[in-house]
Amino acid sequence: MARDRSERRADEVTGEFDLIDRIRARARGRSDVILGIGDDAALLQVPADKQLTVSMDTLNVGVHFPAETAAADIGWKSLAVNLSDLAAMGAQPAWCTLSLSLPQADPAWLEAFLDGFFALADLHDVALIGGDTTCGPLSVCVTVHGFVETGRALRREGARPGDDLWVSGTLGDAAGALALWREGRQVVPSLRARLDRPTPRIALGQALSNVANSAIDVSDGLLADVGHICSQSGVGAEIEIASLPASDAFRSNFDEESLRALQSAGGDDYELCFSAPPNARAAVEAAAREAGTPVARIGLVVVGSGVRTMLGDGREWTPTRAGYTHFAT
Ligand code: ADP
Ligand code: MG
Repeated sequence: MARDRSERRADEVTGEFDLIDRIRARARGRSDVILGIGDDAALLQVPADKQLTVSMDTLNVGVHFPAETAAADIGWKSLAVNLSDLAAMGAQPAWCTLSLSLPQADPAWLEAFLDGFFALADLHDVALIGGDTTCGPLSVCVTVHGFVETGRALRREGARPGDDLWVSGTLGDAAGALALWREGRQVVPSLRARLDRPTPRIALGQALSNVANSAIDVSDGLLADVGHICSQSGVGAEIEIASLPASDAFRSNFDEESLRALQSAGGDDYELCFSAPPNARAAVEAAAREAGTPVARIGLVVVGSGVRTMLGDGREWTPTRAGYTHFAT
């Protein structure tokens, strides 16, 4: 938002521009960032042989994270959920922008936020190239930019009947942490870490770009996100509930029905769900080893529409709750 620097009052201790200066002081460059933070817009060198892929996600207090969440975790997560979208495209991240809406100009909060934000940005060599800083309810909006080999992006629409369905890592940990917190139970640290500091599966996404037929990141709950693959590919899916990968900490804290519900509809997993033909199983396993991320086969893509969830004995299981939707009543 345009605001003349002359509007600043002499007694103003910390304002928009002090915050921007703090952000700018910590932002690292990249050789393809011709002009970063400080001008009216950034100037970037896009590789000639690649396609640019762009994604944006917002985190609102009380909706995407509890108000008590540590600033550093909000910083990490706001970038992580965006990088997860690039991972699902098979992209290599490069740049990001950051729109911050803050209830007050609190330098200590901002520095802690930036600790988490840049810890993850540095892991993936992502340069912060601009943004916006405004006063309002706590909300963080990040845009990420990445590159894919021309024509090689992983899409939701490529699933074919007969494909295996796969998922990375484990499902349900983050939703488990949130459930424990809501029930007033002790929140297991390893589950809490999965809620606050999700791991975007960047290396796996890139390794799968020549192997998978379709991919999505699991953010709103597995069944909802597999549903997106199905509707966009014009196929159906069958998922074996017993085959969903779960951590020991998660498994030991919930009964069977809660485990199923949290794994299938909990959300906030930021794992990759993808489909690949059965003759690519060895290639999928090789991609997972290369990326250092475990993967598990969880079902099949079938002719038809919609997602069915099966119990081991061939019975169908009907989930009580679908994935997360904003504006749902
Ligand atoms: P304008 O008024 O032209 O929008 P701003 O004063 O909002 O400019 O921003 C000045 C510079 O600081 C711009 O380069 C902008 O991208 C950058 N910037 C502002 N807020 C942020 C932020 N939260 N993170 C990173 N860069 C920011
Ligand atoms: Mg601005």
